[in-house]
Amino acid sequence: MTFSLALTDDHITLRDWAHEFAEKTIRPAAAEYDESEETPWPVLQEAAKAGLYGFEIMSNLREDETGQSFPILTEELFWGDGGIGLAIMGTGLAAAGIAAAGTLEQIIEWVPQCYGSADDVKVAGFCSSEPEAGSDVANMRTTAKYDEASDEWVISGQKAWVTNGGIADVLVVQAVVEPGLGSRGQAAFVLKSDTAGIASPKKLRKHGLHASNTADIFFDDVRVPGSALLGGKEKLDAKIARAKEGRKTGAQAAMATFETTRPTVGAMAIGVARAAYEYALDYAKDRVVFGKPIIENQAISFMLADMATEIDAARLLVRRAAWMGAAKQPFAAAEGSMSKLKAGRVAVWSTERAIQILGGVGYTREYPVERMHRDAKIFDIFEGTEQIQQLVIARAISGVRLT
Ligand SMILES: Cc1cc2nc3c(=O)[nH]c(=O)nc-3n(C[C@H](O)[C@H](O)[C@H](O)COP(=O)(O)OP(=O)(O)OC[C@H]3O[C@@H](n4cnc5c(N)ncnc54)[C@H](O)[C@@H]3O)c2cc1C
Repeated sequence: MTFSLALTDDHITLRDWAHEFAEKTIRPAAAEYDESEETPWPVLQEAAKAGLYGFEIMSNLREDETGQSFPILTEELFWGDGGIGLAIMGTGLAAAGIAAAGTLEQIIEWVPQCYGSADDVKVAGFCSSEPEAGSDVANMRTTAKYDEASDEWVISGQKAWVTNGGIADVLVVQAVVEPGLGSRGQAAFVLKSDTAGIASPKKLRKHGLHASNTADIFFDDVRVPGSALLGGKEKLDAKIARAKEGRKTGAQAAMATFETTRPTVGAMAIGVARAAYEYALDYAKDRVVFGKPIIENQAISFMLADMATEIDAARLLVRRAAWMGAAKQPFAAAEGSMSKLKAGRVAVWSTERAIQILGGVGYTREYPVERMHRDAKIFDIFEGTEQIQQLVIARAISGVRLT
C-alpha cells in the first residue's frame, strides 16, 4: 500500500458520520461539562448507540491498511470538544495496551470489557505514570511480586494522572517484576478496578479537558490471578532471562508501538486546533472594528493564513505517520513522534492566536476558544512531553544515545 492522501469512500463516510455526531451531540454539551467537570456519560452512551464507541468500531478501524481511519475519526471528535473527545477516546489507550502485550485469549476476554455495551457503557484506564516516573518510565516504583503457591501476583504502588482513573471498570497496570533492569524488568497486568486493595480517592482538577476524568490510583497488596499478566508467565520469564544476559528484550518493539500511537494523539491536537481556527475565521469576518470587518486587516488575515498552513502541515505529518504504522514502515526519523510534537505545538499556538483574534471576548468563558486553549496544552504534555519527543527524534536522526 503506497501513501496517499486521497480519502476512500469509507473514509469520507466515517469523517462525515463522526463530524455530524461532533456537531450535533458533542458541541452542544461541551461548555456544560467543562463547567461541571463531570463525566459526560450521556454523550458516551449516545456515541455507543450510534456505533462510534465500542469494541466493534475500534477493532474495525484497526483493520484499515491505510492507517487513516483513526486520525480521521479522532480529529472530528476532538473538533467537537477536547474533553468529551478524550472521554470517548481515552479507553483506547488501555485497549491498545492489551492488544499490544496480551495473548489472543486475553484480547478476546478483556478488550470488549473495556468498552461495555451500548446499554451499559464502560471505560478503561492505562496506568503507567507515577509521581516519580512520568517521562522517566524506568524509574517506576510500583511492584508486582509473584506468589508461586497461589499462582497470584501481588501489586503495590501508586499510579498518577490516569485518564479514566476514577471511573474505569478495567485497568491495565505497568509494574516492576524484576528490580534493577529498568524498563526491561517491567510487565503489564489487566484487572478489574473493584479488585480488593485498589483505591482512587479523588479526581484531579485540571487546567483543561474537564470532561475527562483524571485520577491517581493506589494499589495496596492487590492480588490478581496469574492470568492477569499480559502475554503470560512463560514469555515474561524468557524476556527477563534475555535482559539479565544483556540481550535485546523487545524495548525496540515498545518504542515502535509508541511511534504508531502518537499520530492518533496528534490527530486529537489537530481537531482542537482546527475548531479554534474555524471559529476565529468566522468571527474575523463578522466583527467590525474601525468600520470594517477585522479580517480586512492583513495582521488578522495573515494570522489566519498561518494557522491554516500550520494545521495542514501538522495533519500531513500525522497522516504520513499513521500510514507508516499501518504499512509497518520503520520510523527511521521517529516520524510518529515528529507528528505528535508538531501537532501539539500547533494546537497550543493556534488556540492562543484564536483568542487574540477574538480579543476581549476570546478571553471569556462566553466564547469557546479559551476552553480550546486550555484543552490544547495537554498535547505538549501527555503521551510523552514536547521535550521527550525532541529527545526521541534527536536520538533517531543522530544515532547518538542522548539523555
Ligand atoms: C490530563 C492527563 C492525562 C494523563 N493520562 C495518563 C494516562 O492515562 N496514563 C498514564 O500512565 N499517564 C498519564 N498522564 C501522565 C503523563 O503521561 C505525564 O504527565 C507525562 O508523561 C510527563 O511526566 P511528568 O508529569 O512526570 O513530567 P516530568 O517527567 O517530571 O517532566 C517535567 C518537565 O521536565 C522535562 N523533562 C523531563 N525529562 C527530560 C529530559 N531528559 N530532557 C529534557 N526535558 C526533560 C519534561 O519535558 C517536562 O517539561 C496524564 C497526564 C495528564 C496531565
